[in-house]
Formats: sequence, C-alpha cells, structure tokens
Amino acid sequence: RCMIITLITMSTLLSMVCQPKLLTDSLYQDLLSLPIADNLHVDPESIREASVDFGLIVRETPAAVLHPSRPEDIAILVAFAYNRPSTPLTISARGCGHSVQGQAMARDGVVVDMTSLGNKGSRTTVSWSPSLGHYADVGGQQLWIDVLEETLKHDVAPVSWTDYLYLTVGGTLSNAGISGETFRYGPQINNVYEMDVITGTGDYLTCSHDKNPELFYAALGGLGQFGIITRARVALGPAPKRAKWVKMLYSDFSAFTMGQEHLISRHGRDQDEAMDYVEGSLLMRRNSGSWISFFSPSDHQRLMSLVTEHELLYCIEVAKFYDERTQSTVDKDLEMILKDLSHVPEFMFEKDVAYVDFLNRVRVSELKLQGQGLWNVPHPWLNLFVPKSRIANFNTGAFKNIVLKKNITTGTVLIYPMNKNKWDDRMSAVIPDEDVFYTVGFLHSSGFEDWQEFDLQNKEVLLFCEDNGIKVKQYLPNYNTEREWMQHFGPKWRTFQEGKAQFDPKMLLSPGQRIFNHNY
Ligand code: FAD
Repeated sequence: RCMIITLITMSTLLSMVCQPKLLTDSLYQDLLSLPIADNLHVDPESIREASVDFGLIVRETPAAVLHPSRPEDIAILVAFAYNRPSTPLTISARGCGHSVQGQAMARDGVVVDMTSLGNKGSRTTVSWSPSLGHYADVGGQQLWIDVLEETLKHDVAPVSWTDYLYLTVGGTLSNAGISGETFRYGPQINNVYEMDVITGTGDYLTCSHDKNPELFYAALGGLGQFGIITRARVALGPAPKRAKWVKMLYSDFSAFTMGQEHLISRHGRDQDEAMDYVEGSLLMRRNSGSWISFFSPSDHQRLMSLVTEHELLYCIEVAKFYDERTQSTVDKDLEMILKDLSHVPEFMFEKDVAYVDFLNRVRVSELKLQGQGLWNVPHPWLNLFVPKSRIANFNTGAFKNIVLKKNITTGTVLIYPMNKNKWDDRMSAVIPDEDVFYTVGFLHSSGFEDWQEFDLQNKEVLLFCEDNGIKVKQYLPNYNTEREWMQHFGPKWRTFQEGKAQFDPKMLLSPGQRIFNHNY
C-alpha cells in the first residue's frame, strides 16, 4: 500500500510540476516503475537548485533530480537510461554545483544530487598498509572539509588540497584539484590509489593503476564523462599542527616569477628545505578589498601607497607547516628558504595559524561575503594554465594591457607555478607542454546586470593569447564546439573519445560539459 501511495504522490507531483516537454509520458511511467521512484524529485525547489550553479550565469532545467540513498540507486538510474531503447536520458552528477558554466547540469535529464548520499555512501575511513602507508577511503559525495576533520582524528591528512574545502571529492577529481601544494605533491588526481565508479553503462567498477586502468586514468580529470565516482582511496601524510604563513610583495614581475620558480624548484628537497605551499596573486587598487584582510591597518596604509605608486603589485604567498617536533627549527628553515628572494624591502608579512585554519582560509572570506550578500552573485571566472616561457608576455598583454586598462577587476587574481613532472600524463587532465607552467585564475564576482563585461574581458584575454601564440589550456574548461575541445585535448583527444565510446557509449553522462552533447 505504501508503494501505491508513493506512486500516486509521485504521479500527482509529476503532473503538477512537469511540463510535457521535460518529462514525456512514457519516460515518466518508466521512471515510476523503478525501485528508486521514491528518490526521484520533481518539486520546484529540487528542480530550481539543480538548474543553477555557483556561476549563476547558465540555467538548465532538468526533468528530475535523484536524491540517492545509496550508490546502488545511481547505478539503477544509469542502467535504466542506458537500456532505454528510445531517446537518451542524460544524467549529471552534481557535487555542490560549484562549477561556473553549467557543467553539473542536465537539461531535460536527471541531476544526481551526490550530497544526498551523506553518510550512506562511503564515509572516510583511515587505514594503513606497508605499501601505501596511511590512506583514506572517502565517498565521492564528501566535502574535503569533512575528509580533513575525519583524517585529523588519526593525526594524518591528505597531502594535496584545493584552496576551498567545501567542494566534493568527486567534483575536484573530475577536474584536477589544485592549490599551493600542487608544485610539490601534484594535483589531487595524482594522489588517488583507487576508485569505485559507476560507468555510463550502469556497471559499478573498482579501478586503479592495476585494475581497470583505462577507466581510472580516464575518470581522473575526466570532467564526469566516463562515470560517477562514488569512492576514492586517497594518499595521506602526517598532519602538521600549525603553519607559518607569509606574504611578500613585488613591484617587479620578473623578480616575482623568479622567486616563485625558485621556491617550487625545491620540491625534491628534504622537508626542512622545501616550502609546503606556494601561491601568488595580482594586486591592484581596485581589487584591494580581496587581499587587505591579511594585513594590519597600519600596514594597509603603506600598502595602498605602494599600489598607488606601481599600479600593479604581485604577491608571493607561502606556508611552512610545523608540529611539536619541528617547532624549534621552523623559523630558521623558513628564513633559509626565503633568503634569496628579492621582494620589496619592508613588505613581508607573517602570520602563525593553526593548520586547519590555514587550509580552511577561504571559508572565512565566504562567510564574510555571505553576510554582505556578495556570495550568491554571478561568477564569470576564467582559469588558465600558462606556459612559463610566455608568462612575461602574459603579464604585459593580459595583466597590464587588458586587466589594468579596463579597470573592472575587483576579485582575486591568482598566479602561481607548478611542476609538470608532478602530473600523470595518462590522466585526462590537460596541461601545457612545458616543465613549469603557471595557473592564472580570474575569480571575478559581478552584479547580475554586468557579468557580461567580465565575460568580455575573459574573451579578450583568450583572444590575446591566441593572437600571440601563447598556448594556454583552460582549467575547469568551457567550450562550445568540437573543434575547440579537440584543440583543448590535443594529443589526448583520441584517447578521450575512445574512453567515451567504451564507458559511456550512449553519451549520457555530464552533458553540461558540452563535449559530446553539442546540441545540448
Ligand atoms: P560540481 O560543480 O557539482 O561538478 C563538477 C563536474 O564534475 C560536473 O561535470 C559534474 O557532473 C562532475 N561530477 C561531480 N561529482 C562527480 C562524481 N562524483 N563523479 C563524477 N563526476 C562528478 N578548484 C581547484 O582545483 N582548486 C581550488 O582551489 C578551487 N577553489 C574553488 C573555490 C571556490 C569558491 C569555488 C566555487 C570553486 C573552486 N574550485 C577550485 C573549482 C572546483 O574544483 C570545481 O567547481 C569543481 O567542479 C568542484 O565542485 P563541486 O564538487 O561542486 O562539483
């Protein structure tokens, strides 16, 4: 009786909410016949949430949203879609929807709200083995902040991070997962031993370097195209207790990049001789709001004079982690590592913070922006990987001649280098073909009326690169045509296509990336 009542409720809801265009009668009947009917939602709130993302620029309405109670629910949905003889039903896993261009959406399809799995999917369990040392098995739906909290109970933590921890494991592993630790440990995708993945045929497979390796390499950085990640086994290291967190200002771009490159070249050194985290950013008068919180009011005054004098400043940001064992030597080690850098004298600032507070630093800004009503606004972001050999041209052509002249950028502009040898070329993620490359992130926030202005600036930057032969790769890529995707993947395109044919032959998964679903 319960089932009948549920079906009637579903049926009433579906008929109330769904326009026939979104959910055809036969699809609707078929979905109702599935054992996951209870978990399929078509109420306006579920549909609305799945139709937007952090970017607030793209809107695509799905036909239904699956709130899975267990990973097997997802496998049932995908197998159903795969076995349907008629029009394909697309499916998109949605982590937290922190994408900015609709990548986790599925127009007229089903969005799988991964976070509904909560603790019913894989949770974080920490283990140890002689070959791997400490590692954690974590659910694809889990937030990195939850993984951190759980692993810290065992005095260990993942070694590679993103700046922001309220992202899902499956979401960042589908891209790369980068931050100031990447130069040393590689992106998050390089710190995975094994995964459970539900492919586009509904098969539920475990994959690793040795088991189903094609799926393993395809899914890491695979933009959700090959399967839905429900569990990942990630590398852990000893968790430090605190961080010495330092920012240094530069007015000279080549001194800035030489300093950063010097710091990341020390990745092979002993722990005491290498930095744990290296990032950097571009500072202008207009985006001062996004960086002054680090400095005291008196420093702020000096900083504003410096930025007025030079217009563009560059900031190297580093961190050295320590615990009880290294507490007595950390200052000396830090001094030794930084001694050859030539930042503007008197413009070096230091904080000593708990390790967790350092890792969770973006949350502080988020809460502040939320309080000011400035978090849920459009985010026309552009993230690029720029080859080291052209970063000086990028500084002149993009930072000075476009960004500074336009004078609209108020958000954070990140710029920091990484080592190519810390990336695994067998994975789907794409980077420039140079030993060292920079990530440049224009993390714009805009009003609802003027995001196009920022979008236009992004396009100008891309055009400048194209016209000047600067072979950039987009991170969190956003393209519309097959030609652009082919160009993006370069020599990896063929493997990417073959992987799609093998693991998602009906092209059901993550249509919002617009790689294979061109009419999407
Ligand atoms: P979603 O946006 O929901 O999904 C992203 C893509 O992955 C979609 O195509 C989706 O279908 C697919 N997907 C989601 N879950 C799964 C799964 N389990 N299996 C397979 N496919 C899946 N990135 C960095 O690398 N470093 C950073 O420092 C960083 N900082 C950020 C800060 C902020 C404030 C924000 C908003 C984003 C940041 N990002 C960063 C970008 C982030 O990595 C991406 O937004 C990423 O998509 C993760 O977000 P999500 O978990 O919400 O995934």
